[in-house]
Amino acid sequence: MKRLFHTGLILMSNENIVVIFPHPDDESFGASGTISKFREEGHPVTYLCGTLGEMGRNMGNPVFANRETLSSFRKKELNEAAKQLDIDVEFLGYRDKTLEFEPRDQVAAHLREKIESLHATIVITHYPGYAVHPDHDALGAAVVAAVQGIEETKRPQVWMHAISNDHASHLGDPDIVYDVRPYWEQKLAAIKAHLSQADGMMSLIENHDQASEQLERLKTERFYKYIFN
Ligand SMILES: [Zn+2]
Repeated sequence: MKRLFHTGLILMSNENIVVIFPHPDDESFGASGTISKFREEGHPVTYLCGTLGEMGRNMGNPVFANRETLSSFRKKELNEAAKQLDIDVEFLGYRDKTLEFEPRDQVAAHLREKIESLHATIVITHYPGYAVHPDHDALGAAVVAAVQGIEETKRPQVWMHAISNDHASHLGDPDIVYDVRPYWEQKLAAIKAHLSQADGMMSLIENHDQASEQLERLKTERFYKYIFN
């Protein structure tokens, strides 16, 4: 077994985690507990963020952004969340709400190059068809196509985050379930960093609305592993 040094920890095995979602805040709501767990274990994590989320409807509460300034706020917010999570961030440069119209093979080729150059062993993305937003579905599908194109022995695992209410009845139980309560503080700090987007969730949290299903759902993170044939 390889022993590798990373940030002072001795690892018994090495993973390189690459998270690929379209919007600044998808990583914090969907995977920041898992990301924190990997970071605590010393594994490097990179977030490849598809867009700047510039078409988002939330402009802060009280409102502090407008359509022109939203992208620069969201970029800063993601950089702050990344600092909280101790991860690297790269923006892929696509336009918000247009990913479904980008040629999938071109997006896949772009992603494949990134995945290979980062030596990813685990890629975390959305489950296409069960991710409630056309950008989520389109980027998840492009990730699957990208990894499919990599030679079998070098392929990273693909872990997919499903969101839609019907996903469990269609897909069954997820392959990976993490109770992320040990990383709750990191997760909250990351969500909070997305000031323009997180107001609704933060008020649920601050009012200790324990009955809130939405809040309860954040305490576990679940992923389906993609099976390549
Ligand atoms: Zn999103």
